[in-house]
Amino acid sequence: MTFPFEALAACRAELETEASAGDAQATFPAAGLQRLRQLGVLAAALPRVHGGLGLGTEPHGAAGLLHMLRLVGQGNMALGRVVEGHVNAIRLVCLYGTPAQVARVAQDVHDDALYGLWVTDGATPLRMEQAAGGLVLHGGKAFASAARQATHALVTARAERDATRMLLVALDEGRTVQAGGAGLAGMRGAGTGQCDLTGMAVLPAAMVGQPGDYLRQPEFSAGAWRGMAVALGGIERLSALLRSQLATRGRAAAPAQQARIGRALIAAETALLWTRRAARMASGQDQVDAGDIAATVNLGRLAVERAGLEVIELVERGLGLSAFVRDNVVERLVRDLATYLRQPAPDETLCEAAAWFTRRDLPQPDVRP
Ligand SMILES: Cc1cc2nc3c(=O)[nH]c(=O)nc-3n(C[C@H](O)[C@H](O)[C@H](O)COP(=O)(O)OP(=O)(O)OC[C@H]3O[C@@H](n4cnc5c(N)ncnc54)[C@H](O)[C@@H]3O)c2cc1C
Repeated sequence: MTFPFEALAACRAELETEASAGDAQATFPAAGLQRLRQLGVLAAALPRVHGGLGLGTEPHGAAGLLHMLRLVGQGNMALGRVVEGHVNAIRLVCLYGTPAQVARVAQDVHDDALYGLWVTDGATPLRMEQAAGGLVLHGGKAFASAARQATHALVTARAERDATRMLLVALDEGRTVQAGGAGLAGMRGAGTGQCDLTGMAVLPAAMVGQPGDYLRQPEFSAGAWRGMAVALGGIERLSALLRSQLATRGRAAAPAQQARIGRALIAAETALLWTRRAARMASGQDQVDAGDIAATVNLGRLAVERAGLEVIELVERGLGLSAFVRDNVVERLVRDLATYLRQPAPDETLCEAAAWFTRRDLPQPDVRP
């Protein structure tokens, strides 16, 4: 069985139209998600023994997952973020969970579950507390994608002795969510909100892995490559729109605009090359040290951020004010990409990678003839 990439590519325009229509009201792209579900996007990450394609959970699946996330990102980066969180949650359960937990998640996904990966803490960080009847959650998560639409989430919570644990939670309809997406400038369709999980009982079977597993390297840093793949899709879409809109207005032949087109193409290709490199290393296809994997992906994350910022500047300067007019799709895409590029701790990410490679070389792919 293979993934229907052509069908996914064919529905990008549909995803984009829905994203633009829902932007003002920060409406979640429910039709787009359903379309992706029908194409098998949500089940693709499951291991093959559980009826998936292993995209993201088996080494051979990295290239396919990259292409899938990139295509979704080209259509709607907000949906890309939601799919990326879902895939990440499945991968973490496969890496650290028990066979029974993996089977449970697989069954849920075949029954149309959408998983969130909710890590960012809200005003009251999520903790597990001992109550009379057993462990209960106290606190909640902020910037949780698909806060209302996810049926399940893998969340991080602090335990008594402050170690971070991963927990699988089933989310009922009555959960308390404060919309966050309405206040965000971009990625307004990601259904981002603050979710209060206070009072939810924690059964031992819900605990995934051991204390500290979530932060275990190289997975903790290397997982960033999937977000890079979604951002890559947005960068490629903006770069394509720069070219087509300049051509439509008869401005593409001006030397300064040609230079912008060239620089945008270079930026998009740079993002692609780094994302491919990161995906390959993260999937363990190269025999390299765990520190090399984490630091290379960290550099790649910053390279994709830089490529995205460059394309945003080129689009805004090349198209001028029309890039700021709300009925031009470029205006929304710039907001979505600029928001999505704000990933956690970029300074630390760069400094850690730089420190790692100060006294050793970046591992090079074998390019001998
Ligand atoms: C649309 C969207 C969806 C999201 N979905 C989810 C989700 O589903 N699950 C989830 O867990 N999270 C989610 N997030 C949150 C996301 O993962 C990041 O936590 C968030 O984007 C980090 O943004 P930030 O710029 O505030 O990061 P920060 O890490 O606060 O960085 C901001 C700046 O401060 C600097 N900085 C950071 N720490 C320090 C420090 N100690 N001292 C000095 N400077 C510092 C950084 O280098 C950077 O320059 C989402 C975010 C968005 C926008």
